[in-house]
Amino acid sequence: MNAEPSMSSSERNDKTQPESQGETLREAELGFQDREVDAVQPFFLENTGIRGRMLRLESAIDAVLKRHRYPEPAARLLGELMALTGLLSSLLKFEGTFTLQSKSDGPISAMVADMTSAGVVRGYLNVNREALSAMLEGLEDGQEPTLGQLVGEGYLAFTVDQPGHADRYQAIVALEGESLAECLQNYFRQSDQVESGVLIKVDQVADEKGEKHWRAGGIIVQLMPDEGGSNAVELEDGATSGMVRDGDERKEDWSRTMVLLSSCSREELLDSALPMNDLLYRLFHEELVRVYDRLPLYEGCRCSREKLETVIKTIPVGELDQHKVDGRILASCEFCSRTYSFDDDDIAKIQAAD
Ligand SMILES: [Zn+2]
Repeated sequence: MNAEPSMSSSERNDKTQPESQGETLREAELGFQDREVDAVQPFFLENTGIRGRMLRLESAIDAVLKRHRYPEPAARLLGELMALTGLLSSLLKFEGTFTLQSKSDGPISAMVADMTSAGVVRGYLNVNREALSAMLEGLEDGQEPTLGQLVGEGYLAFTVDQPGHADRYQAIVALEGESLAECLQNYFRQSDQVESGVLIKVDQVADEKGEKHWRAGGIIVQLMPDEGGSNAVELEDGATSGMVRDGDERKEDWSRTMVLLSSCSREELLDSALPMNDLLYRLFHEELVRVYDRLPLYEGCRCSREKLETVIKTIPVGELDQHKVDGRILASCEFCSRTYSFDDDDIAKIQAAD
């Protein structure tokens, strides 16, 4: 495993300072409707050494989950994976693509979600619908399937691809815990000794016409490592808070923050009428919340005919026929379901090209 970029080391943190100085949230400035409901909001709790990110996905996630028409528990899990992808990639400073993907032996055998540094998100999963229905039928009424029942045993991999960088950062964690959020919390604790709290909610919310739309909301908080010697907390904009926290105070800061985080309800996290900054203030105002520039998120796909042409060019001429259906090669993108068709003339041109 390559050590760079790490998601939590203090060295890494130096490179993830938001560009702006940020501003401390004040009660008088609340109540403004969010213009960007698909976005990540970076924040810092000034009275502690805790940084965080809040995410909301509305039209971006609704578009992806409706297009795929997965069974409801599968759609919800992909929504969680996409929300985690948005939160984790926003902790990193990189130019390229951040990917979270799973492989496992359960009804949902693979999931992929990725996000570019420009904030474009997408995702898909592979589900054995019969195996999933059989598993769901075995549950008690009202019982929600666990992560283990949905995915079985397997792993979750994080990858950062940066064009021009030969090194690909990758980390792998076992798919364990009650939820994907818990799986990630355990990963941070074990691999980086960074206390992290992750809260993710995904659900369908009815609009005024009764039409249902997928919504995702999430918050991640991290207790930044205590830099040996100095206890002063460095703010993300480079200033210090002046707060000197000893080990016991750090523990108290952390447990208080986790209690505040767990007090956040599903309704609050998914309610687009409650602006993100208002919710952060409601949860953490006693710690003084400093917010930084928001990163807007968009749904989109990067597949192209040209990319598929390079794949077709790698197929030996003698094997081309076995990929054809009615004389054509049909290739569809798993992310966006768009289908590309290549007839014999197209294939001849691809083969002849340099
Ligand atoms: Zn596509």
